[in-house]
Amino acid sequence: MLLGAIADDFTGATDLCSMLVRGGMRTVQVIGVPQSGQVAPDADAVVVALKSRTAPVRQAIDESLAALRWLQAAGARQFFFKYCSTFDSTDEGNIGPVADALVQALGCGFALACPAFPTNARTVYQGHLFVGGALLNESGMENHPLTPMTDANLVRVLSRQTAGTVGLVPFATVDQGVQAIRSAMIRLKEQGRRYAIVDAITDNHLLAIGQAADGHALISGGSGVAMGLPENFRRKGLLSQAGDPAALPTIEGGSAVLAGSCSRATLAQLGYARDHLPVFELDALAIPDAAALATAALAWADGSLGDKPIVIAASAPPDKVAALQTRLGREHAGSLIEDAIARVAAGLIARGVRKLVVAGGETSGSVVGRLGVHSLRIGTEIDPGVPWTFAEGSGPGLLLALKSGNFGATDFFLKAFRILEG
Ligand code: ADP
Repeated sequence: MLLGAIADDFTGATDLCSMLVRGGMRTVQVIGVPQSGQVAPDADAVVVALKSRTAPVRQAIDESLAALRWLQAAGARQFFFKYCSTFDSTDEGNIGPVADALVQALGCGFALACPAFPTNARTVYQGHLFVGGALLNESGMENHPLTPMTDANLVRVLSRQTAGTVGLVPFATVDQGVQAIRSAMIRLKEQGRRYAIVDAITDNHLLAIGQAADGHALISGGSGVAMGLPENFRRKGLLSQAGDPAALPTIEGGSAVLAGSCSRATLAQLGYARDHLPVFELDALAIPDAAALATAALAWADGSLGDKPIVIAASAPPDKVAALQTRLGREHAGSLIEDAIARVAAGLIARGVRKLVVAGGETSGSVVGRLGVHSLRIGTEIDPGVPWTFAEGSGPGLLLALKSGNFGATDFFLKAFRILEG
């Protein structure tokens, strides 16, 4: 293992994995802190996916340190702390406190911090984070229910979260390239700064920052700043040239889509799929019971599974979601449907389904939990940020594509299976 990463949420971890695979690293995503005896997968990079973004600070630190210890034991040479490209955090944490704990555990005294991801319109200029043309605190993120971002100045934001001090490597330096960035970081470290927010506006900046961070024990940021890391390992001859890093085993079996996301993109993808594939709607208003809902869906699947992928969806437009939430309460409505979909996933696998697309972040978490999947080998991207993965766990070989609700083009559900046919 060359790179060991700790990600503060599940879909963020997948995003980082995809970036590393694109750079030529064979990458596996591990779900949750691995058991201390769990054997490390055969991969160039391993990303441990935590749910620590909004967890209590102490818990986020403890889980991150446990993940670090496991990655260290597995032989990782460099470590990456992945957070959101909108720097989702509060004055209490968790980015600062977790980074402090990792810096201390590694004894490195310093880490760069760069959430920039120009492809997704996240740029950092003079330490200020922009989302598209807007400053972070005017981008809508100021209204986030859990991590409202009311200050775009990341030097200030991170300063409020750490016991250390924070410096800046400004655009004018970054634009001069690798040597200038490296020297600036060395100077900041010598001045006693624990972190450097590093400006980045283009992918070329990210590549230069990645190269300048060669040899750093810890790097922190969004998945964008990982763009330059594979090349550091390749230059040293540590990355095998043989084979496709995105290659996954070929698996025979049925195909299905499970949708629990009510996001706009998923609703459009379902609209498109209805014209091409058999679709069953899970109606929790009519059957407000997870086991009974799953039984109804699986009875339909028994008559519908064949050559074509089948689709089972709970997804609904806002008025229907509101109706169910009024009837059952917001949380119960969500967990009932997540439970039903997880049961359907297990039932489909018992019926021979081996290629499964799941739409929805929470929905994916519940399916993966039910199936006992502990790690995902990352394969080809279907659409940006959503790769096919090979699930490793207790069950039979399974290809899984876990889609965050708003990701993917309108034809995503068809395209996913088309890609597998090569
Ligand atoms: P996304 O990635 O789009 O946010 P999630 O799976 O994370 O999707 O969240 C969607 C939530 O909505 C889940 O808790 C799911 O169970 C719930 N849900 C799905 N369908 C309905 C529905 N018809 N009514 C109410 N809640 C629903």
